[in-house]
Amino acid sequence: MSEAEMKEEKIPRNFITDIIDTDLKEGKFDHVATRFPPEPNGYLHIGHAKSICLNYGLARDYHGTCNMRFDDTNPVKEDMEYINSIKRDVNWLGFKWDKLCHSSDYFDKLYGFAVELINKGLAYVDEQTAQEIHDSRGTLTKPGIDSPYRNRTPSENLALFKKMRDGGFEEGKACLRAKIDMASPFICMRDPVIYRIRFASHAITGDKWCIYPMYDFTHCISDALEGITHSICTLEFQDNRRLYDWVLDHISIDHEHRPHQYEMSRLNLEYSITSKRKLNLLVEEGLVDGWDDPRLTTISGLRRRGYTPGSIREFCRRIGVTKQENVIEMAALESCIREDLNVHAKRAMAVLHPIKLVIENYGQDGITQTEVKCQNHPEHPEMGSRDVAFSKEIFIDAADFREEANKQYKRLKLGHEVRLRNAYIVKALSCDKDAAGNVVCVHCEAIPGSLGTNVEGHKPKGVIHWVSAEKCLRAQINIYTNLFKVANPGAAEDFLSTVDKNSKIEIKDAALELSLADAKAGDCYQFEREGYFCCDSKYSKPGCPVFNLTVALRETKKAAI
Ligand code: ATP
Ligand code: MG
Repeated sequence: MSEAEMKEEKIPRNFITDIIDTDLKEGKFDHVATRFPPEPNGYLHIGHAKSICLNYGLARDYHGTCNMRFDDTNPVKEDMEYINSIKRDVNWLGFKWDKLCHSSDYFDKLYGFAVELINKGLAYVDEQTAQEIHDSRGTLTKPGIDSPYRNRTPSENLALFKKMRDGGFEEGKACLRAKIDMASPFICMRDPVIYRIRFASHAITGDKWCIYPMYDFTHCISDALEGITHSICTLEFQDNRRLYDWVLDHISIDHEHRPHQYEMSRLNLEYSITSKRKLNLLVEEGLVDGWDDPRLTTISGLRRRGYTPGSIREFCRRIGVTKQENVIEMAALESCIREDLNVHAKRAMAVLHPIKLVIENYGQDGITQTEVKCQNHPEHPEMGSRDVAFSKEIFIDAADFREEANKQYKRLKLGHEVRLRNAYIVKALSCDKDAAGNVVCVHCEAIPGSLGTNVEGHKPKGVIHWVSAEKCLRAQINIYTNLFKVANPGAAEDFLSTVDKNSKIEIKDAALELSLADAKAGDCYQFEREGYFCCDSKYSKPGCPVFNLTVALRETKKAAI
């Protein structure tokens, strides 16, 4: 999709655009500033695409700004590889950020705000263990219990916090907690931890820090420092909004406009995992071929599978933005790429399970064609045409021939005729079988004068595709089904055991028309009668492509949206 086409895309109205419109009308803000804040602890997935399309889309539609912010506060799990892949994926989806920021850019300032809270008597160094802190939090029906360290004086806390920063405590032996309300009905307000000790090298700040701020403390301050107006996250952070506001209420931060947090529902997609932690497990356990395995709904997996940026944006547009939790059917995602490729993908012929078909009267009766012209797209003549080699011996798919079959079978059977796509009508005369009884070769005759035209007295019911056996490309085609055996693998106790080990089928020796030797990584085709396929970026070599099934030609069941 061109940049011009993309400008045509607009986020359909939703509760967030309503809020923005009201804010702008009331003069609360005169511009819109959003951010997309991934933690660089894995590759982006389709759930992130929803957030990206919304945050960057709002900036586009309201002529505002959207920052890319790496929420890099946990050095143990974060990595440069992830940072680079995230940047690439956001750009690939078609979006450009205004500023590239990192939470770590604010470590000095965050430290200063923590000191301010300490000075105000609003934060204290707790030396309980993580377990003790957890156990004294209370429950929804029971208030928490004060830490024995809760009433330390600001000067005591300042010295201890400095000691934390200087590496004077072992990991887990001390943390900084906001002093809020141990009886709050919101557990996140019961003196949340805002700094912890981690002796780990950070991807950007290296070994400068051994204390790292927690998400709830970092996020709101980063938003305020960047001048974010609408800070959008997912519903599980609803309660945390209180903490977001509490922090901003109690520090002296210059912000022109106070940022606000809004929550939307997460995207949940059937047969798919949208948690970086779980995706990481699949990769580490070797159950998939890396983060970009075409069966994964990571952005990089979808790209390798043949999804286009436009199809993913269209999917996000269709699912919309609400506060309603729901699960989207895979068919909804698939129909977006199918509609896109139906318009944009060139047609080509590939025989997945080749058997030979010999035209016995080739060279006689005017049956002499050595190539036939094929349109690259039936509805788009401007996409041009190509000459496909034709010969006495061609390949057809094993499924397209039967010795006998009932009337429903519209392909080739003995004594009957079928049209070879863009070529002759052929009549099957006999067939040869191997020792196991499988048909390996069909002998037939071509009907004179039938090249691309009808002939009196010959009305074949079906059309089948084919490839010259003499001039073709033998290549690998990968067929995929759902990676998981269950619709909601995320909910399974042992989700790794729900992986379907047969979800990738490698067809090693398919027969493809020669033009496909020029396919480049990422090129998508409709292999006629088979489906949409994409040239794999990992295993293809020049002149020797490997293809991945993107999506079948038709839906197997109706999409929910
Ligand atoms: P993960 O568990 O995959 O790491 P996360 O929410 O922790 O998910 P982040 O990288 O921290 O991922 O999130 C970046 C942004 O993307 C956040 O604003 C988050 O709310 C949003 N996001 C993540 N997953 C989804 C999802 N499934 N649907 C919508 N938004 C999502
Ligand atoms: Mg996260």
